Amino acid sequence: MSNIQFIRNQNPKPKPKSDELKFGTIFTDHMFVMDYSVEKGWHDPRIVPYGPISLEPSTMVFHYGQAIFEGLKAYRNIKGEVVTFRPMDNIARLNRSAERLCIPQVDQELLWEGLKMLLEIEKDWVPAAEGTALYIRPFIIATDPYLGVRPSHTYKLFIILSPVGAYYTEGFKPVKIYVTDKYVRAARGGLGYTKAAANYAASLYAAEEAKKKGYTQVLWLDACHHRYVEEVGTMNIFFKIDGVVVTPSLEGGSILPGITRDSVITLARSMGYKVEERLISIEEVFEAHEKGKLEEVFGTGTAAVISPVGELNWNDRVIKINDGQMGEFSKLMYDKLTGIQYGREEDKFNWVK
Ligand code: PMP
Repeated sequence: MSNIQFIRNQNPKPKPKSDELKFGTIFTDHMFVMDYSVEKGWHDPRIVPYGPISLEPSTMVFHYGQAIFEGLKAYRNIKGEVVTFRPMDNIARLNRSAERLCIPQVDQELLWEGLKMLLEIEKDWVPAAEGTALYIRPFIIATDPYLGVRPSHTYKLFIILSPVGAYYTEGFKPVKIYVTDKYVRAARGGLGYTKAAANYAASLYAAEEAKKKGYTQVLWLDACHHRYVEEVGTMNIFFKIDGVVVTPSLEGGSILPGITRDSVITLARSMGYKVEERLISIEEVFEAHEKGKLEEVFGTGTAAVISPVGELNWNDRVIKINDGQMGEFSKLMYDKLTGIQYGREEDKFNWVK
């Protein structure tokens, strides 16, 4: 830890009130930064005042999009301690994204040390109200000032922090989802399993179209057959069909391996639920609904933890799920996971760090 330099912000900002927090609009006083060059590897880890950075217009990330990120949260638990949830899984995923984008691997322990030190410095920014958290955004960008398509030789890694509000302030509102078979998010062999900025750029157009039609998010189907369910917006998706919990398998490499997804699978299995990770077609989902066997549909992700789906529209075939209410299993998973995160439930799997 000793080799992480610290330059204190001399003009700290006033902290927002817990009940006024939105998502991703306010940033704390400090950020973690580290540089990469071929000669020195990752070097100069430091915590410095949060603020603008200066880059040449020729900087490669602006042109060829070599950029990856992560997203996790620090919680203030019921004892008042600041804790994170499965942070090493996020750091490992960052390195898997790095590999796919030709970005050099990061020393996972060093990054964890840097994050812990940053959180210690910024601990007063972690809001205390139920459901609020400090969102943690590590990211890496290519920084060579160069035009020409090749991997950059230099990079910058940052960790910035943003206090975020409770996702559900007015109770759980199941979302309306538009199934697109016109646009795809990621193909087999592509970047789908990474948190590359490119994946989010690729998702915008379909999401805007869905919004114009009155839907909150898009449900993505596979790029080849436009048939198998992949993800919903920026969440993994789960179905409960006739008592069995089903989620698309990660095998094809086009789905992001969500940490909330893995936590739901692990928890559900430990509680005796049957969980299947497999191909699931959109026809199967609609057929299960017709037979009265589609009990619940929900998305999982760091932001909302569990987001119930109340309606699916697939080529103007519209189905309503569980009368637009949050299902029992969805609620159970939400309560268990947030219980572990905020310290109300025993952390059996040693997820809290
Ligand atoms: N899929 C996508 C495309 C995402 O951006 C996210 C959010 N990271 C997820 C799934 C859920 O992942 P996690 O549970 O790790 O937040």
